This record gives sequence, structure tokens and C-alpha cells, in this order.
Amino acid sequence: MFDCAIVGAGLAGLVAAQYLADRGLSVTVLEARDRVGGRVENRVLSDGSYVELGGQWIGPGFDELQAIIDSLGLETVGLPARGNLVVRLRGQALEVPSTDDKPALTPFEVSDLGQGLLRLRRLAERLRDDAAWRRANDAWLKQDLRRWVTTNLRTQGAQRRFGEVYSAAFGPMPKGATLLEGLHQVNSGPDLESMLASNGGLHQKRVSGGMATVAEALAAKLGDAVRLRSEVVRVEHDDRSARLTLADGAVVEARQVISTLPPRLAVAVPHVPALPAWRAEAADKVAPGNVIKAFLIYDKPFWRDLGYSGQSSADEGAVRVTFDTTSDNSDRGHLMGFFEGADADSLSRRSVTLRERAFIDSVVRTFGEVAAKPLSYIERDWAAEKFTGGCHGAHFAPGVWTTNGPILAEPEGVLHWAGAEYATRFNGYMEGAVRSGREVAAVVARNLA
Ligand SMILES: Cc1cc2nc3c(=O)[nH]c(=O)nc-3n(C[C@H](O)[C@H](O)[C@H](O)COP(=O)(O)OP(=O)(O)OC[C@H]3O[C@@H](n4cnc5c(N)ncnc54)[C@H](O)[C@@H]3O)c2cc1C
Repeated sequence: MFDCAIVGAGLAGLVAAQYLADRGLSVTVLEARDRVGGRVENRVLSDGSYVELGGQWIGPGFDELQAIIDSLGLETVGLPARGNLVVRLRGQALEVPSTDDKPALTPFEVSDLGQGLLRLRRLAERLRDDAAWRRANDAWLKQDLRRWVTTNLRTQGAQRRFGEVYSAAFGPMPKGATLLEGLHQVNSGPDLESMLASNGGLHQKRVSGGMATVAEALAAKLGDAVRLRSEVVRVEHDDRSARLTLADGAVVEARQVISTLPPRLAVAVPHVPALPAWRAEAADKVAPGNVIKAFLIYDKPFWRDLGYSGQSSADEGAVRVTFDTTSDNSDRGHLMGFFEGADADSLSRRSVTLRERAFIDSVVRTFGEVAAKPLSYIERDWAAEKFTGGCHGAHFAPGVWTTNGPILAEPEGVLHWAGAEYATRFNGYMEGAVRSGREVAAVVARNLA
């Protein structure tokens, strides 16, 4: 019998396992896929370069992740090149000079946007620090977040940019999200304003070789403790231990269990005795986002020669944001974009060829005909992945985080839950996964002492 069985070899699972192994406890990590990393994954291309299909950017405050990267002797790299941002608005492509300051629409719109972000941040701080104020303003805080944006920002450009910044930071703004949930996101995620900066924002650093090398290095340290192709299909538990049944019929016994599956997948695994109904209901309301991460590979990063950074932002089209994600070992040009929200929903049911064409159309409108002939197209539709079920992370449906969210992370006897969606800080991000994995492992270690 193991001291602890960990379900899932994503960042949270690997960090939790390492924490326990370092304290002399016996662990096994059961991973359904034939690779480690979960939502962190590299695809190596024919020229030896790579694209990162999942999480890749390290933002401000990602201190625990950075400490792990350093301890593994891995390097980080900054943005590949400086250059102008292209903003495509109402059919017109505008160049926004790249500075370390916030890229602008018009000075008036930027000032409007800045005021709105400042107001939101101040409200978030008040919510965090002043319980009496929160109680007194309960009804007002439950107003629609979009309505708050349109009543507090005066220009359409700033309102639209606000939505883009919010989406880039937290994923698509769920329909019906309340101001209260927005403020919670501001308190648990990265600084909204820093998202506006082309440098120094979330899209700041990457691991040389790709974030997947972090997961691989962590797994290598754990050696045989990590079991691939080991999907957990049933969990039997009592107050002293648990028996996990794998898809091939094998059974693993452990005194404690940490499940690192996204909430909906976690409760979908049959439990005996069954998990309390509230847990399944809470998890059911946690709708994962739907984002397809896609890449166009060019023979060279043509945008750099034109003075562009490769970053672009548009108010229409299937792909509305792009970034230069050329890997540090490549002479080619890797332009990455996201199909998000409703576009991802409808396009995910169509052919790969159609999505490739839609992406190319979008970048041609942004950068010109020079973008018309990529060498290849690569994508990962995370919603179609059985062992993920959506991305970036789960987005809490209205009222869920504030009422049910924290209890989803509460243990159930010997069963514990960890991962990006259970994190109280950096929820949905790699930093959240790492912190949650470490924190829950500390609880388990205390239980086992
Ligand atoms: C496209 C995309 C872009 C992103 N970009 C960023 C970014 O730039 N910066 C950032 O900070 N974050 C980003 N994220 C989010 C980040 O990748 C995740 O928050 C983080 O990797 C989640 O780690 P985790 O360990 O909590 O979960 P996961 O990585 O999902 O790990 C769960 C593991 O459980 C396994 N599993 C599932 N079911 C079973 C089962 N029944 N039995 C056994 N194993 C099972 C899965 O295969 C997986 O390996 C991005 C995510 C995506 C998808």
C-alpha cells in the first residue's frame, strides 16, 4: 500500500508527488495519457523546433513555478522580438508602436480604459479588505459584469479592449458573469493592467525548450513512481485508505489520494461510496472554457522584417489575437493564435482545413498578403481531449466560485483535490496548479505523520 496515490501527472500532480517523495513518503502517480504534463505539451516539428500546445507563458508573480524551473537547471527566454503591435479595428489595421507602456488605441480610449481598470482593481481590493462593505453592497455586486463595463467605460474602443484584456487574463468572460465574480478573478489572477503591456505582462517569459520540459524533468526525478497509460476508472474509499481501479483492471491501494483532475472530470470518476451530491452539482456548474490553440508556421518570421512584433489584436475574425511564439531554436516563424468562445464552439465542429483557412484569412487581414502562404498549420482543440475536457482552465459559472468554489477543494476523508482550478491564487494558471499541488501535499503529509 502506498502512502499516497496521485491521479494525474500534470504540474499539480508532479509537484505534489515530489513534495511527498522528498519527505520519504511512498507515492505513485497514475496518469491516463502516454505522456506527462497534462495541459502542458510540446509538439516537435520536422526542423527540430517545437510549438507549445498548452500552457507556456510565465507571468509576474509566478514565483513557485520559477523556483522549480531554477531548481531543475532550466532556462527562461523573453519575448522573441520587439516590434509594433497591430490592432485591427472596424476593418482597418492600425500600427501601435511597441513601447514598454500600454499599447494605445487612441489616447482618449487608453485613458478611459486605464480609469476603468483602476476602478475595478480598487473595488477588488475593497472586496478583499472590507467585509462590512461587501455585505452592505451585496445586491449591487451581483450586477452583470458586462453592464458594469458599459456603464463605467465611456468609449466603445475601451469597452472592447477591456473585454480583450479580461479574456486574455482569465479566458472568455462567461455570459451572465457578475461584477462580484470579476472582482474575485482580479484578486486571484495576475494584474489586469499588466496584461496591456506588450512586455512585462503575462506573455512575458517562456521556458527554453518548452514548458513540457519542466514536467518531463519533474517526472524523471520521480522515476518509476510515475505510471503512464494508467487511467483511474473507479475509486473505493473508507476512512483509512482507498483502492483505485485502473482501466486495465489493476488495483492500486493508498492511505491518501490526491486527484488533480479538472473538477468535472474528477467527479465523473465513479466513487464508492459516492461523493456527496453537492460536490457533483458544484463541479457540474464549472464550465471549462473552449479554446483552440493554433499555429501557422512560416519559412521565416516575416513580421519582424516589417517591424511588427507578431502580436495583434482584432475586433472581428475567427482568430482575434496572435503572438510570435517562434521557438528559440528555430529560423522559421511560428505565429500563434486562439480560436475562442463562440468561434471555437462553431469551428471545432468543422474541418481542420476550414480552421486553417479561417486563421490564414485573419492574419492576411492583419499583416497583409505576405502572411498568405504558411508552410504548415498545427492546432490543439483541448475541448476534444478526453483527459482535459476544455481550456484554458474551467471558468466558474455565475455564483459558483463565490458560493461553491472553495468547498470543491475540501477533502473528503482520505480523498483530496488539487490543480489549477482549485487554487486560491492564480486560479486556472500553471502557477495556481503548482501552488495547489504543493499546498495539498503538505496537508497529506501532515495527515500521514
Ligand atoms: C491552450 C492553453 C494555453 C494555456 N496557456 C497558459 C499560459 O500561458 N500560462 C499559464 O500559466 N497557464 C496556461 N494555461 C493553463 C495551464 O496549462 C494549466 O492551468 C495547468 O497546466 C493545469 O495543470 P494541472 O496539473 O492542474 O492539470 P492538468 O495539466 O490538466 O493535469 C491533469 C492530469 O490528469 C490526467 N488525467 C485526466 N483524467 C485522468 C484519469 N481518469 N486517470 C488518470 N489521469 C487522468 C490528465 O491526462 C492530466 O495529465 C493554458 C492552458 C491551455 C490548455
